[in-house]
Amino acid sequence: MSNTITMANTKSETNLVWKDCLNIIKENVPSLTYNTWFLPIKPIELDESVLKIQVPNNFFVEWIDEHYNTLINNTIYQVLGSEGKLAYVIVEDNEDLPEHEEYVLTPTPSPTRAIKEQPVKHEEFENYLNPRYRFGNFIKGENNQLARAAAMAIGDNPGTTSFNPLFIYGGVGLGKTHLIQAIGNKVLEDDPDKKVIYLSSDIFTVEFVEAIQSNTVNEFSNFYKSMDVLIIDDIQFLIGKEKTQDLFFHIFNTLHQAGKQIILSSDKPPKDLQGLNERLVSRFQWGLTTDIQPPDLETRVAILKNKSETYGITLSNEILEYIAHNITSNIRELEGCLIKLLANASLGAKEINYELAKKTVKEIATNRQVNISIDLITRHVCEFFEVDENKVREKNRKKEVVMARQAAMYLSKKLTQSSLKTIGLHFGGRDHSTVIHAFNNIEKLRDKDLNLKETIDAIRNKIELGAS
Ligand code: ADP
Ligand code: MG
Repeated sequence: MSNTITMANTKSETNLVWKDCLNIIKENVPSLTYNTWFLPIKPIELDESVLKIQVPNNFFVEWIDEHYNTLINNTIYQVLGSEGKLAYVIVEDNEDLPEHEEYVLTPTPSPTRAIKEQPVKHEEFENYLNPRYRFGNFIKGENNQLARAAAMAIGDNPGTTSFNPLFIYGGVGLGKTHLIQAIGNKVLEDDPDKKVIYLSSDIFTVEFVEAIQSNTVNEFSNFYKSMDVLIIDDIQFLIGKEKTQDLFFHIFNTLHQAGKQIILSSDKPPKDLQGLNERLVSRFQWGLTTDIQPPDLETRVAILKNKSETYGITLSNEILEYIAHNITSNIRELEGCLIKLLANASLGAKEINYELAKKTVKEIATNRQVNISIDLITRHVCEFFEVDENKVREKNRKKEVVMARQAAMYLSKKLTQSSLKTIGLHFGGRDHSTVIHAFNNIEKLRDKDLNLKETIDAIRNKIELGAS
């Protein structure tokens, strides 16, 4: 794989090399991290086997070096071979060429293992546990109290508590995956010889299908039956997969009878998993079923505080509270906001202040647009205009209803990807020309009528900040 490049290279070769690097990096970091830290980097030149890349400031270099050093070294090694080196060139703003300080990092020699691999205790299989997910960095809150306590009890005594299986359910980004993996990590920390495996139920399904195709269903099934701790994430993906469910049923029984620990997560409680075999549903309820709720304000602040400290920054209470007030439904998004805030500060070499926090929260909200529906917009508009939602959806021609309808059409066009036709259909089956007319009308009025402009902006803010 590793091609060695010896001569000074053309711009396009440089670009290609950097692109190869990006491809590897992309596979190994969350997309937000990738977009924030790696995508903005520009390759400058490839000189012998030193790849020079342009970064906006010192902070950027330090951040990348501190958090992604191993990844970068491994990437450079894979792309440029053992001679490969990376040089950061700091170029402030958009001046074209480097007035520079240069940092050269020498990659650690020959990382022979694949990047994603962690040193594993059991040579014979990959346990897919992310070592980052631990109890120590899982913040306790009222929203996760029982789930966390049960998880910790199991971490100490897998298979021997009455919490078998442990079934944790809740919405996205609330910490299910973190918590159930923390159990696995704890068990292995106490006893590296324990056989622990984590996987999501869709991976389980894919592996099962492969086992069928290669005639190795027995091996497949025995492998999972040999675990001390089996952790299956997002069990709802088994819905509609009868054969996988059957096999899982047998694995479940064998493990349970042998006093081995089973840990499951899902987006819903067992009884609501329609389409899942009854006998599985009832078994899922044998142990402890508990949920994780969205975190309350205090917990959100605590999480932000803790995460910002791990990133080595201290945020004022004002900023912590602003973010925690505005990003409410999801912890992944809280984390995302923090990373983006750092990036915004670092890219513009700005200090992190209230204004920047505000701007960042707004950006996060805008990225969320995909989840904004016409119905959601209609609800918010009607609340503001104090008109009945049904009237807006009918052919009612009262002045205030018409206004609300036009505002809702306008925002639907602005905030969703829906076509004019679709929007028209939502508002009493009107055609696309009516929607265009509404859109233009509101645009025009916004310029003239400051009140209206403020109202529309307020509704928009509310929708963008509150949507999930
Ligand atoms: P889910 O599986 O419920 O969708 P995750 O476990 O992937 O959610 O959590 C999303 C992100 O939020 C992860 O990065 C996780 O580390 C973080 N997170 C969730 N809950 C907490 C918590 N209580 N304390 C610290 N970090 C948390
Ligand atoms: Mg998850």
